[in-house]
This record gives sequence, C-alpha cells and structure tokens, in this order.
Amino acid sequence: MISVFGSANMDLVAYTAVVPGRGETVTGHAFRTIPGGKGANQAVAAARAGAATCFVGAVGDDAFGPVMRDTLAGAGVDVSRLRVVPGSSGIAHIVVDDDGGNSIIVIPGANGTITAPSDEDLAVIDRSDALLLQLELPMEAVVAAARRARVPVVLTPAPVQDLPRELLGAVDLIVPNEHEAAAITGLADPEEALKALLDLVPEAVITLGAEGALYGARTGRPLRVPAVPVRAVDTTAAGDTFVGALAVARAEGRPQEQALRFAATAAALSVQRPGASTSMPTRPEIEAALA
Ligand code: ATP
Repeated sequence: MISVFGSANMDLVAYTAVVPGRGETVTGHAFRTIPGGKGANQAVAAARAGAATCFVGAVGDDAFGPVMRDTLAGAGVDVSRLRVVPGSSGIAHIVVDDDGGNSIIVIPGANGTITAPSDEDLAVIDRSDALLLQLELPMEAVVAAARRARVPVVLTPAPVQDLPRELLGAVDLIVPNEHEAAAITGLADPEEALKALLDLVPEAVITLGAEGALYGARTGRPLRVPAVPVRAVDTTAAGDTFVGALAVARAEGRPQEQALRFAATAAALSVQRPGASTSMPTRPEIEAALA
C-alpha cells in the first residue's frame, strides 16, 4: 500500500487571448475546473499504477470538496483519511493566454489548515510500504509526517523552497526535477547535483523531462534512465505520474532499474494525453507499453 500526505487543489483555468492587466476586463474563450494538487495527483498516479493507495489530506466544505473526493475515490484511492474542514478548498486560479503563457494564484485553503498528521493518519501511513510527500502543505506538517512515519519517505521537493535539516534527515528518497535539484544544491549539472543530493539523503532521482531521469544511491553507480520516446502533447503532472508509479514498483520489490523503467513508461504515457489526473495511465496500459 502507498500513502500520500499532501495537497488537493481545484484548478480553475480560464483561457483568454491576453492575460488582463490591473483594472482590465477581458472576455475569455473557455473555462475548465480540473481536480489537481500534487498530493492528489500522486495518489491517483499510484492507484492507477496498481497499488492500494490512501490519501491523507483536507478539502473545504465548499462545492469543490465533494468533486475532489469523488475524483480520488473514482481512481480507486482510499479517501477515509480525507477530512472536510470549514472554508475554501485549495484553489489554483490559472489564466492561460493564447501563447500558452499563464499566471497563477494558489490559495492553500483547506491544505493550509493541516499542521500534522493525526494519530489515526499515522496508523494508516505506518501500514503502508511508502509515504509520499510534496511541499504544498505547510512545512511544519510535512516535517511532522516525515519524522513520525515509520515507513520509507519519498519527497517531491516542489514547489521549491528551503528544506529544513530535520526534513532531509527523515527522507529516504528525494525526486526533484532538474530545476528543483539545481535550486536545492546550487549546481546546474544534474550529475553534480545528484552527488550533492546524496550528501543529504540516501537515494535520489532527478527527472529530466524528455531526457529521462538520473538515479543514484550512496552505494553503487548512478543509473541513467532514458525517457520513452513519444510525442508529448501535455507534460502537466509527468513528474507526479513518475513518482506515483515509481513508489508502486518499488513497493512490489522490482529491482531498481526495472522500477525506474516502469515509472518512465507511466510518465511517457501521461504526456501523450492532456490534463493531470486525467492523463495518468492504468496498470494494464503501463504493462502493455512495457511489453
Ligand atoms: P511536471 O511539473 O509537469 O509534473 P516535472 O518537471 O516534475 O513535471 P519532468 O522531469 O518534466 O517532471 O518529467 C518527469 C518524467 O516524465 C521524466 O523523467 C520522463 O521520464 C517523463 N517525461 C517527461 N517529459 C517527457 C517527454 N516529452 N517524453 C517522454 N517522457 C517524458
């Protein structure tokens, strides 16, 4: 089983020719509400990739809460540890212009009310094979979960921010993209950044978009994981798909190289379809692509 302690957001996406300036009103041409948030996305990715998955988090008591709950449950995620708190759900208010540029306001809402996992949450987390964390909850909550969990902790350090020592000391595997890896280590070269990350945590994967990924552990040689060559239409949540699938493959005890190939295959399937949770592949789809 995989546990995810993280964010659920509703993405409210307005499409318009030009992003309006202050005081300006424009007529847009489309609008979509898309359930997301890195935590919820990783939970959907893990469930679709074939693991029993529990999402621990919060939504508001607004109209978006039940939609996000249903999206998670519809993907097969256990939502018994999803709480409903008074006020707004987490929101990402996104304006996309015709050039694909965007401006985004994130309102943490319910996510921002979480200060730590409860004892009941920890009882579930400690029954799982791995705990997946990201940085869209308050840092104190992420640190508390990492320190108190008795299972391997996988951290996606996004959105990028300073990582407290006490967090890093409790992380078993960190999975930044190359920008996050550079921000954490101050090193632009992924191989150098990987070495620096391994001074902080026992294992690391740096994802490199269409260039694949680089894995390293404190012992043994680094592994280059090629990306599966595909025509990408939307890379949103490629990283979350990769992490969810990697956690599933590792929980099943697949050898490192096979687990990484499973994750890269799942992510490559996701970039060929639009959206975040909507693009994540099922277990049979991943197995078929691997074969
Ligand atoms: P996002 O923020 O969009 O979730 P990310 O920046 O966290 O993504 P990336 O490094 O872009 O993560 O991608 C994660 C993984 O997805 C890569 O390691 C690779 O395996 C796969 N991937 C991404 N883009 C492509 C692509 N164009 N073709 C094939 N595979 C891809």
